[in-house]
Amino acid sequence: EHAEISLKDIDQIAKSSFPLCMHHLFEKLREDHHLKHGGRMQLGLFLKGVGLKLDDALAFWRAEFSRKVGAERFDKEYAYSIRHNYGKEGKRTDYTPYSCQKIISSTPGVGDHHGCPYRHFSEENLRAALTRMRVGNPALEDVIDKVRNRHYQLACTLTFEAVHGSSCDAGVNHPNQYYNDSQRILE
Ligand code: SF4
Repeated sequence: EHAEISLKDIDQIAKSSFPLCMHHLFEKLREDHHLKHGGRMQLGLFLKGVGLKLDDALAFWRAEFSRKVGAERFDKEYAYSIRHNYGKEGKRTDYTPYSCQKIISSTPGVGDHHGCPYRHFSEENLRAALTRMRVGNPALEDVIDKVRNRHYQLACTLTFEAVHGSSCDAGVNHPNQYYNDSQRILE
């Protein structure tokens, strides 16, 4: 299933169907007009998996980065890696979006926004983020309980169920699977 998505819908689908890891990156990009390399990779490949075509991806990243570093510098320093993600540069590998396991085991540093919020956020920040997603009690405490027991993907699954009011029997193994399952429910 490779439905294309249109740029004008991206804020709406980010809000309704992105898992927390991607929603966080998306919001930070909109806020800061910049993401460091790990965040660009994690979000960029996810968006490719969601169905954002290369031309739209370039337009999307260019619109944000231009506000921070200028369009010229974007074209010189950042556009290449986006084309690269789509297999249009270098070895022309068609790179695949990251799995939960890969994201959870990443090690974001200061100023990085990639990673899995269930694993990498403080409990306080996670609670605030879940509340913004309208996850209320008792679901919120169940999510926190999973996190304390280091069951990050189960915590994400419970969030999915709370947000969608629908069960997710397969669990969450991949951010793009979360997205696809969400779209299937919302369609
Ligand atoms: Fe993203 Fe997977 Fe973590 Fe959910 S469990 S926030 S989809 S990395």
